[in-house]
Amino acid sequence: MLLTKVLRSGVQAGLRFQGTSAQASAKVAAATSKPDHGGFSFELTDQQKEFQELSRKFAREEIVPAAPGYDKSGEYPFPLIKRAWELGLMNGHIPEDCGGMGLGIFDACLITEELAYGCTGVQTAIEANSLGQMPVIIAGNDAQKKKYLGRMTEEPLMCAYCVTEPGAGSDVAGIMTRAVRKGDDYVINGQKMWITNGGKANWYFLLARTEADPKCSASKAFTGFIVDADTPGLQPGRKEINMGQRCSDTRGITFEDVVVPKENVLIGEGAGFKIAMGAFDKTRPPVAAGATGLAQRALDEATKYALERKTFGRLIAEHQAVSFILAEMAMKVELARMAYQRSAWEVDMGQRNTYYASIAKAFAGDIANQCASDAVQVFGGNGFNSEYPVEKLMRDAKIYQIYEGTAQIQRLIISREHFAKYKH
Ligand SMILES: Cc1cc2nc3c(=O)[nH]c(=O)nc-3n(C[C@H](O)[C@H](O)[C@H](O)COP(=O)(O)OP(=O)(O)OC[C@H]3O[C@@H](n4cnc5c(N)ncnc54)[C@H](O)[C@@H]3O)c2cc1C
Repeated sequence: MLLTKVLRSGVQAGLRFQGTSAQASAKVAAATSKPDHGGFSFELTDQQKEFQELSRKFAREEIVPAAPGYDKSGEYPFPLIKRAWELGLMNGHIPEDCGGMGLGIFDACLITEELAYGCTGVQTAIEANSLGQMPVIIAGNDAQKKKYLGRMTEEPLMCAYCVTEPGAGSDVAGIMTRAVRKGDDYVINGQKMWITNGGKANWYFLLARTEADPKCSASKAFTGFIVDADTPGLQPGRKEINMGQRCSDTRGITFEDVVVPKENVLIGEGAGFKIAMGAFDKTRPPVAAGATGLAQRALDEATKYALERKTFGRLIAEHQAVSFILAEMAMKVELARMAYQRSAWEVDMGQRNTYYASIAKAFAGDIANQCASDAVQVFGGNGFNSEYPVEKLMRDAKIYQIYEGTAQIQRLIISREHFAKYKH
């Protein structure tokens, strides 16, 4: 864990965008190891470069070669997760007083992009820890943080974010899982669905309805709990066989008279919806970073192939139709990267980033799919075959338009935020 200690001194945000408040600029200037140029700068700090290089090396040397095997077997990639944990490349947001590195979202995104380049199934399993931890980071009290986040710095444990149900995904306020207060405990009954790390988690962030009145507003009707995975009555279902990201563990989970002590309520009864939704501002930038990593991989694979494959006596890269596909892919990758970095930077500066986070997530999710499909096209028949890396990318990409808010829900959020600027 030496490296973790070295990295722990963490730099929060190396990218600087002009025009922010003086306070934000000062914070950035203090946090960066380079002189503040006073304006736009795309230079990463030395420490951020270290994160990037370390995660890039790990992804290319260890994840890339193992990924096709995990894709075929669907086995959970625990050896890779353990390595990532040892290298200090996961759980980066855990605060320093809980034994973590206390990284900002920007730094974590740099790591996520690199891990996703290797395999987004592995990256999603790792990222689901951040998603499960985030409600505790933003809303947990000291005791909850020390107990549940602290243990994750001592051994490579997983956790999960347990919100979606068979009947309600986008419409979070439609969830039916009920938590009823009985003395000092809550008794929870219900069914969750599509929970990443569902069968591997040591504990869950769970959103349940505590208000019986159906007319009660979402902002008061739900409560967030931390639930230990070994609580009697909690039963993960079978591993789902998904289109892509197949080594990631996705399951339904049944809660049958699961007793949770009131000490495990986050903030208080009724605060759950805000906590569950608030986590997304911090977790959507990394999802966008993951999608960007996949798109970069698609671009790299397609480019290498185009520089080797010949048709009609020349490299296919020399056919303008192919080189323009690659140029379009390059444009999309660069812009997706800028979008996730902007959205991560905003939240690290303490600014509301809902608009930017949804733009980044929607855009990167879409371009990951376009780039993966284009890479298959550049590979021709080989692209359609599992001996080559790009068909996996195309299957893996699809989920970026679905989880953590679908492509449509992101547009709903963007349009709502957009119109709000015009209402004064
Ligand atoms: C592999 C995988 C991993 C996941 N991991 C997790 C996890 O760890 N934790 C968790 O809680 N959940 C998780 N999910 C759930 C995921 O977040 C939901 O599947 C997603 O939010 C969509 O919800 P849904 O599947 O119920 O689709 P629905 O909400 O039923 O949507 C169906 C379609 O209708 C569209 N739609 C719905 N409402 C609107 C609207 N108002 N306007 C326009 N279009 C609309 C959607 O965009 C979509 O195209 C995961 C899902 C998958 C597949």
